[in-house]
Amino acid sequence: MKPRLISIVIPSYNESNNIELIYNAITNECSDIDYDFEILFINDGSTDDTIKRIKQLESINSNVKYISFTRNFGKEVALLAGFQHVTGEAVIVMDADLQHPCNLIKPFIQGYEEGYHQVIAQRNRKGEKPLRACFSSLYYCLVNKIVDVEIKNGVGDFRLLSRKAVEALLLLNEGNRFSKGLFSWIGLSQKTIYYDNIIRKNGKSKWSLSALLNYGIDGIISFNNRPLRICFYSGAILLLFSLIYIFINFVFIIRNGITEPGYFTLISAVLFLGGIQLLCLGVIGEYIGRIYYETKHRPHYLIQETNINTGENHEDT
Ligand code: UDP
Ligand code: MG
Repeated sequence: MKPRLISIVIPSYNESNNIELIYNAITNECSDIDYDFEILFINDGSTDDTIKRIKQLESINSNVKYISFTRNFGKEVALLAGFQHVTGEAVIVMDADLQHPCNLIKPFIQGYEEGYHQVIAQRNRKGEKPLRACFSSLYYCLVNKIVDVEIKNGVGDFRLLSRKAVEALLLLNEGNRFSKGLFSWIGLSQKTIYYDNIIRKNGKSKWSLSALLNYGIDGIISFNNRPLRICFYSGAILLLFSLIYIFINFVFIIRNGITEPGYFTLISAVLFLGGIQLLCLGVIGEYIGRIYYETKHRPHYLIQETNINTGENHEDT
């Protein structure tokens, strides 16, 4: 009988020093588990020798697979490529930087055997800079008020997905992929496992402040058009207030005549309304931008080389 196979997908961007460490950690952890494992590294356009390190592992273990992109397409897209190419009956998603502890693999599989379609790891924010932890909590509070799907603080991509969950994710073909929301959108039975946050040891986090901000906006915009509705309501409320204000002033002027030139009121109204208008235009622009990208129907990524049979011919340059 063919052994049962579990796939592990690892998006890797400039993780040269981590590849061997994560591989060793996984193989140690999995040596006494009753499944076969394939490890699929997605080299997301690394500029260091990440791919060389992966190929070294491939030469000693044929269960090491890789897909190397032509450039950096982002972690979300790397995950998509992983889901499209793995063959296991369940898929574990983890980072290359050892922040996702391998000792959760066994509890993941246990959850899977109990029949859960998503076994999700949730971390606390131990050791994180207080300011970042505070902003994150605020953000999750706000996002959950605005979007339709539930996004939990401390829950990331680190999880096991059953084949059914993976197939469901593959049905969501959008280019702008906010995985946290997509995982939540597909639903299915879920089990949560808690673990302590681990600080990255090698290499740098790829999240700059602006990248985090963009990701945050993606999270809010990707799931519904409620922000557009908020623009509409704030516009309507402002209009109502300005009408009342104009009416009161009009009555005042009729009674007393013009007493003051009213520079201050005028300039504050112009600035305030200008700000609101720009903000609303920005929100509308965000949605139009997304429509623009989606209508291009570009492929999500391009593969430079791989040791998987993808049915396409890839140039090895
Ligand atoms: N990553 C990727 N492409 C990117 C950025 C990150 O494949 O453009 C990978 C990275 O190599 C790591 C994982 O995604 O394995 C998480 O990245 P990072 O550690 O920078 O994020 P953080 O842990 O700070 O959220
Ligand atoms: Mg990390």
